[in-house]
Amino acid sequence: MSSETSYRSGYMHGASARSGVQHNVSAFFSQLHAAGYAADTVLGLARARADIIRSPWRDELAGIADGARVSFDQVLAYNLYRDLVSPDECTVSMAVGHASASGDTVFAKNSDKVGGKSLVGPNFYKNKEINVILYAERDDGLKIIGVCAAGSTGLKMGMNNRGLAAGCNIARTQELDEKNMDLTKIRALDRAYLLRIGLEQSNVLDATRGVTAELMASPMATPGNIQFADARQAFLIEGSYDRLAVKKIADDVDSRSNRFITLEYMNKKDDVSSYCRYYRTQEILKSKKGKMTLDDLVQISMDHANGPGPNSICRHGTQFTEEISLAAMVMALDGKDPSKSRWGICLGKPCHAWRDPEGHFFGDMSTPRSAIPEGFFNGAVFKKFYQEEPKFA
Ligand SMILES: [Zn+2]
Repeated sequence: MSSETSYRSGYMHGASARSGVQHNVSAFFSQLHAAGYAADTVLGLARARADIIRSPWRDELAGIADGARVSFDQVLAYNLYRDLVSPDECTVSMAVGHASASGDTVFAKNSDKVGGKSLVGPNFYKNKEINVILYAERDDGLKIIGVCAAGSTGLKMGMNNRGLAAGCNIARTQELDEKNMDLTKIRALDRAYLLRIGLEQSNVLDATRGVTAELMASPMATPGNIQFADARQAFLIEGSYDRLAVKKIADDVDSRSNRFITLEYMNKKDDVSSYCRYYRTQEILKSKKGKMTLDDLVQISMDHANGPGPNSICRHGTQFTEEISLAAMVMALDGKDPSKSRWGICLGKPCHAWRDPEGHFFGDMSTPRSAIPEGFFNGAVFKKFYQEEPKFA
């Protein structure tokens, strides 16, 4: 992607989601402040480590900053360190190859987020990161559609028009609890950025190889899982500060919550929610192995078993400091014509947004940006459907 194309795509993102970017960046600095970091120190660190985010994504960041009228250094710091103060939680489900009804992989993620303790405001959403659709096209025709925090070049989940789907989640390990956040020592990679690097590849092996190579050089800022899938197979990466595991899946179902499975011995023992969500997704996926469809994944995304509350897949809270679901994406890869791979995105609470035509959008990888309502880019849909009261069928 030329730097000009990247800048233009970032500028559109920043200009459309201007208030959302400003909100997310200022919320990030409030959270850093509450954690004892002065803004000047963090901006200095970000400038010194700007090379972690390479071109062309750095040009995209410059576009986001100009479009949103936020300084480049602030947007850079937000992209480098946001995972440390406010990591993405989440549940990922997949039926790979012949485990789906069509024989091509279906993949889904609910994105969950904890609110900022230091953030107060009359509207509940103001304590949460505002989610929007990320739509990026390269000069060579590679296109990525997914969900991101307004102001981020990285993705929470997404797919490309070369037949790849991706998701990720933090893993609540013992070491995460023991390790104190120290920005001055860490040279770590943001998971959302790694997802973006992977989705710029044209096949699942290159995406997995590229990201594991990055992880061998520098770990993720927080331990976590990253998944890449094509129509036939998937790779589930578990990455800690000093070790990596990769599981390959073909013609089978699998899922991840905020825990390791291959590196299970590293998990924090009292994380009830991750345990509940992992076993609930496994239960549903195994019962529908060979028959899974996009609609089944929408149903999983709204599932309230063990809740509705923090332990259900569609996560609800009573306080903004709880981890709750903020967006979801379902994807159906098309092995024959990847540009026809289908996707659905809901912004806000899944049990509301999937049930209201204004809260979600279905398209395929040839859908032009102009066909997607502007509310998915400027934060309006997220604000409307972000609410805590559960909605039942
Ligand atoms: Zn719900």
